[in-house]
Amino acid sequence: MTEHSRQPSVTVLGLGPMGRALAGAFLDAGVRTTVWNRTPGRDAELIARGAVPASSPQEAVAAASLTVVCVVNYDASDAVLREDAVAAALKGRTVVNLSADVPGRARDAADWAAGHGIRYLDGAIMTPTPSIGTDDAVLLLSGPEELYREHRPVLAALGGTHTHLGEDIGRAAAYDIALLDVFWTAMAGYTHALALARAEGVAATELAPFAQGIAAILPPLFTEFAADADAGTYSGELNPVTSAASTMAHVVHAAESHGIDAGVMRVIEGQARRVIALGHGTDGFTRVTELLAGR
Ligand code: NDP
Repeated sequence: MTEHSRQPSVTVLGLGPMGRALAGAFLDAGVRTTVWNRTPGRDAELIARGAVPASSPQEAVAAASLTVVCVVNYDASDAVLREDAVAAALKGRTVVNLSADVPGRARDAADWAAGHGIRYLDGAIMTPTPSIGTDDAVLLLSGPEELYREHRPVLAALGGTHTHLGEDIGRAAAYDIALLDVFWTAMAGYTHALALARAEGVAATELAPFAQGIAAILPPLFTEFAADADAGTYSGELNPVTSAASTMAHVVHAAESHGIDAGVMRVIEGQARRVIALGHGTDGFTRVTELLAGR
């Protein structure tokens, strides 16, 4: 066995910010890394660090038994993987698709892969590019357990915590969309708050330390409310939804008095008012989960 054949290897398709971070982490870990991107020229820095450039996706996937795909969504990954020449070159090899999309697309991709003799794992990256290759990286994976175990040693180069969520191929995407829901609604709240604060003469940097204080309240509430949601109990003893709705109305009034769109908060207040109208005014705000879930 030559030195070259003993070295673990991987192919990375997609060299946006995240794909470049993944390829860089593989290189740092001593994994032989072949790279390809639809638009040429994104691989210069990686090549300088030792990556092997491929001139086509079929050439790229033929270079390793494991291909990691990280492009904008599954329309993009399908466009790359479902080319006849690429599918043929992937036969008998493994694809780990770390592109973000909805669970149904992951299931569809897995069915397609099975029909072409391609081994398939799906995954989601929950942390930003600087975390990749460090202890802070968080990756969720789903699909065949034995496939996950087989490729775990190479994927470990990406650092951090990897959680295999089970054999249901759509599960990583299901976690991903739910967690993106948390992230983007929180970010929308923050951007709105900064606009509202500015209208009141408060600079973003003045508000930020106090906003961090609000954010720090959330982790224990997430744990507490999760137990409530699974149990179907929504105690509002310390903060009933009637009180919560009143504070939401303050935000709506203040924002609109400055001509700031309060549409998001209006929707949230409306949900709280519907819970009250259904006779749950003494429950906590998280009763809204039941309303949205249609139970
Ligand atoms: P983007 O989401 O912008 O994806 C860019 C990549 O997608 C490029 O390689 C681009 O190629 C490729 N691409 C887009 N359309 C096509 C297509 N039709 N055919 C082939 N390739 C295509 O940037 P990121 O790299 O940051 O993200 C990649 C994935 O990682 C996304 O699903 C994202 O949600 C996820 N992610 C990203 C994080 C981040 O912090 N950046 C954090 C967690 C997850 P080209 O250069 O040719 O345009």
